[in-house]
Amino acid sequence: MTRVAVVGAGPGGYAAAFYAADLGMQVTLIDPEKNPGGVCLYRGCIPSKALLHVAKVLDEASHAREWGIEFGAPKIDVDRLRAYKNKVVEKLTGGTGQVAKLRKVNYVQGWASIVTPTRLHIRTAGGEEFVDVDYIVLATGSEPTRIPGFSINSPRVLDSTSALDLPEIPGTMLVIGGGYIGLELGSVYAALGTKVSVVEMTDGLLPGADRDLVRILAKRVEETFDKVMLSTRVLSMKASGTSVPVSLEGPDGPAEASYDYVLVAIGRRPNARVPGLDKTAVQVTDRGFIQTDFQRRSEEPTIFAIGDVAGEPMLAHKASHEARVAVEAIEGHKSVFEPAAIPAVVFTDPEIAWAGLTEADAEKQGIKVDVAKFPWPASGRAIAIDRVDGMTKLLIDPETERILGVGIVGSGAGELIAEGMLAIEMGATASDVKLTIHAHPTLSETVMESAEMFFGQATHVYKPKRK
Ligand code: FAD
Repeated sequence: MTRVAVVGAGPGGYAAAFYAADLGMQVTLIDPEKNPGGVCLYRGCIPSKALLHVAKVLDEASHAREWGIEFGAPKIDVDRLRAYKNKVVEKLTGGTGQVAKLRKVNYVQGWASIVTPTRLHIRTAGGEEFVDVDYIVLATGSEPTRIPGFSINSPRVLDSTSALDLPEIPGTMLVIGGGYIGLELGSVYAALGTKVSVVEMTDGLLPGADRDLVRILAKRVEETFDKVMLSTRVLSMKASGTSVPVSLEGPDGPAEASYDYVLVAIGRRPNARVPGLDKTAVQVTDRGFIQTDFQRRSEEPTIFAIGDVAGEPMLAHKASHEARVAVEAIEGHKSVFEPAAIPAVVFTDPEIAWAGLTEADAEKQGIKVDVAKFPWPASGRAIAIDRVDGMTKLLIDPETERILGVGIVGSGAGELIAEGMLAIEMGATASDVKLTIHAHPTLSETVMESAEMFFGQATHVYKPKRK
């Protein structure tokens, strides 16, 4: 029986362990937490979405005034809110723990280090143990980027992990970094009543996403946040007893400001510092990722690496899919990790989601595309739910009419992108999407009508195709 040890039990590690067990391998899964879950389930994707759900409810309740329904000002009990978020995490991680037991995965709570390419040492609360295996899968994930000067040891300077613990509802908060983690967590605090400001070094929020999608979100962020400072750097900050004074430099020159809390969300770095890795042939890139091939095998034939530690994009679903490829490679299959696209979702309100080619990438790479956009003010469903702040677009190859990319901004864009993903993976053409009957009235119709826009025949928008 093939023996596999998986180090790290995030969505990469536990997916690998479970699949390996399904294929009949003898599996040991090692992680410091009580149950499998990793960053995603304990202090990332899941707790942030539980809080974003609450933020959405608060926002809808206040918005309901415009529909003739008025609720009083919300009373927020931070302890109960934190308990709700913790319960969500416990439910899910308890579930993965159960599933691990059912699959007879040997889950060891502890820290692993590498003794040889087929032997691990595990430090547990009660002592230590060694595991001898045929293969090791490293799924050690990532951690918040720390840069000198910003890593101040103060309870008022938060990273994503401590921000999710909701120390209190601050009066004011500065979010450093206008990426998805900063915007998601900033939106939570803004909905709870904090005056949130965001500072971003580049000239736009969410660098990497198409500007037309970001524009619609940015408008909302400008309404709900106190201040959005673009092309601005934080020069220094120091935490005093009750506040964090910050020096900034932006287009108008240097400025000083003070906040109750600062959230540093400037990115994440891969965690390739697994003790003993240097005793193997595993190579680590300049950016700190473990170097792997198309099967996620490292330079050391018995060691695989998956998830955040194995490269961008650092997303849970990428980790889980790599896990399956690595396990199949161990099983001897000719599987490779070469998805046609990997979706990205920013769970703000409105959400932004994209898959495949973006307009920015098409331009950079000199790829000619036709862009068909459907504005949500023409969607019956968007009007019915009073969420016309959205847009769906398809990037289409003008020659073959194949869908190369999909971008969506709007309420629930994260769910809608699945159809775009399927279209890209299946090599669908604009006609395929146009001819697929979508239920009415749904936001998913915006995908179909975007395809109709390509032909200049969208039912709800008059925009004839230019000859
Ligand atoms: P991780 O989930 O990082 O897990 C790695 C595990 O390995 C950890 O438990 C760690 O303690 C353990 N470990 C490390 N070293 C050792 C060792 N030597 N021995 C034993 N164990 C070890 N992604 C999305 O796709 N969607 C989202 O909505 C999303 N939201 C996010 C929100 C936040 C606030 C954050 C921080 C991240 C979010 N992410 C999201 C990113 C997502 O969490 C990661 O991409 C994902 O967790 C990566 O999975 P992984 O399996 O590579 O490792």
